[in-house]
Amino acid sequence: MKKISILVPMFNEQEVLPSLYDRLSSLMNANPDYEWEVVMVDDGSQDNTALLALQMRERDKRFHIVELSRNFGKETAMLAGIDTVSGDCMVIMDADLQHPPEVIPEMIKKWEEGYDDVYGKRISRGKEPWLRKKLTEFYYNLLQKSAHIPIIKNVGDFRLLDKSCVNALRQLRETHRYTKGLYCYIGFKKTSVDFEQGDREAGETKWNYFKLLGLAIEGITSYTTLPLRIATMMGSVISMGAMIYLVYVLFKTFLVGDPVAGFPTIIVCLLFLGGIILLTLGVLGEYIARIFDESKQRPAYFIREVDGKRQKDGRGREIE
Ligand code: UDP
Ligand code: MG
Repeated sequence: MKKISILVPMFNEQEVLPSLYDRLSSLMNANPDYEWEVVMVDDGSQDNTALLALQMRERDKRFHIVELSRNFGKETAMLAGIDTVSGDCMVIMDADLQHPPEVIPEMIKKWEEGYDDVYGKRISRGKEPWLRKKLTEFYYNLLQKSAHIPIIKNVGDFRLLDKSCVNALRQLRETHRYTKGLYCYIGFKKTSVDFEQGDREAGETKWNYFKLLGLAIEGITSYTTLPLRIATMMGSVISMGAMIYLVYVLFKTFLVGDPVAGFPTIIVCLLFLGGIILLTLGVLGEYIARIFDESKQRPAYFIREVDGKRQKDGRGREIE
């Protein structure tokens, strides 16, 4: 019998856990041809998420809970789950049920047809603020144009991955993770399944604009060095312009005998150049920060408990 793992990263999701339990159990009970496993990764929640998850496990042993030692962020929580799952394939979904579990059988069908990576394609984004929708759209366009790998639009983390993809993802150990790009990076045979993204069942979104901006910068700096190239090009164009202007000024002074003037020009040039230099330094800094962080080679996360049992070394191991 093939085993299917469902990975659910959770951060302060106590309100939604009861309905998550119901929806997942009915899905699993309706498909007894497969062996099921749900790996809930508690990403250092401050509410009763871990406790409720343990209660779910008491009622149904197919549910597993991996409790991280603190909040590491969704991307890292997903890595912890990816390291833990033991199925022949893995489905990643959000705890808030914005990713309807009812789509999973459809994904499994595609997987059985021979696809390795079946991703859910949103046909509506639910009740998201207009500004956020527009910004996301703009960002994906930008990323797609600048990154060397195509990043598929309107596709989130809701997807089914074959064991081979899971093993590939396990080997990508960078601590600054932008998983959406990693799926594209690993390749494999992909196909999509449409789904209607509903609204959050309960609780609140954990992303504010600031966090999203951070994720956006993460995406750009981990997939493309284009900003560095832009800095170089900006520098060259400006110095070339300056050279031409120099020749012009020299000619004017020697031939026409222009008295020295142009205080405003100097200030404007200074400020403009100063701004560009600072911006470029910032861009450089982003990349150096990446190098700094990755060069420490720290483990991406620590695990406190697996299925309610303390982990002495802070590392999880495969759930038996
Ligand atoms: N999440 C997490 N760690 C975090 C933030 C979020 O594991 O630090 C989980 C959260 O519990 C949910 C999923 O990531 O299962 C998506 O989060 P959310 O619904 O808040 O994001 P949105 O759907 O608004 O993008
Ligand atoms: Mg959500």
